[in-house]
Amino acid sequence: MHNDTTDTDGATTDDHSFALCLTHDVDRPYKSWPQALYYALTDPSPSHLLSMVPGQNPYWQFETIMSIEKSLGVRSAFYFLNEPDLFLEKSLVAWARSENWIQQFGRYDITDPEIVSIISTLDAEGWEIGLHGSYQSYRDQYRLAYEKAVLESILSDTILGGRQHYLNLDRSQTWRYHAEMGLRYDASLGSSTDYGFTNGYGVKRPFNDEFVVFPLTVMEVALPDPETNTDDARSVCERLLKEAHENGAVMTVLWHLRYFNEREFPGYTDLYRFIIERARELNAWIGPPGELYPHLVNQSSGVRKEEASGNKEITENKMMSDTA
Ligand SMILES: [Zn+2]
Repeated sequence: MHNDTTDTDGATTDDHSFALCLTHDVDRPYKSWPQALYYALTDPSPSHLLSMVPGQNPYWQFETIMSIEKSLGVRSAFYFLNEPDLFLEKSLVAWARSENWIQQFGRYDITDPEIVSIISTLDAEGWEIGLHGSYQSYRDQYRLAYEKAVLESILSDTILGGRQHYLNLDRSQTWRYHAEMGLRYDASLGSSTDYGFTNGYGVKRPFNDEFVVFPLTVMEVALPDPETNTDDARSVCERLLKEAHENGAVMTVLWHLRYFNEREFPGYTDLYRFIIERARELNAWIGPPGELYPHLVNQSSGVRKEEASGNKEITENKMMSDTA
């Protein structure tokens, strides 16, 4: 339990026992040669170089995801990154910092016609488009506001929320920036190494108003490798889904685009599909956070309340049937 947040609403819409929010951070849709060489040096598998077929982008997985989700009758959120271009926007001092040039590998230009076109297709077909705040933007509200404005101009619409790159957060300060620039939610609270409901079962309301935080329940990379440990990976997901079901939770998952490249990341696509299919069997509402958001703020009474009482959490849970 964190002092700077108040847990409120668990899930969600009528007739569902919990919610599963699907999200994708669009970090590097183009695999670059420096990346491929880097991976090849750090990973003995030859797949990183083999996947660099001329004319193909192994990490451009939008169509794969769209087709999987369409076949399952669900939609998700895609969060787009607008990392500053070091060549154009950064000083020599900035170049000296390795964390800055690492961010340049596979960097894409959000105004690239191919990206603009996929944003428009996703939007037209019911996917949520959100902001993936660049590496330093969690503490730079001007940069973040600029990125939001660029994305909204591409989309010709306002965006509701997103997630910070690398889950970078300065807690309340970052959320204050988000709220002040008109974002309604953030999904950055979580871990890339651990999964679970460490941050509670419901969304959080750091300012006790309509700005909400969707804690990240699981990022694909934190799970057991589904190629070598298929059963373990599935049983972890099964356990999380059951826990969500029993607690009327909002469960949020993050699958990066590159993990849908079956050659480099075997097993992850099937695991993603498994989560959605099992969630459906367990009567979950499934969709992007932005679509769930209005249901959460329209709830007249909190479905879930968690209050800190010393070290003890008092939890009250009422299912979603009484939601608007
Ligand atoms: Zn990212």
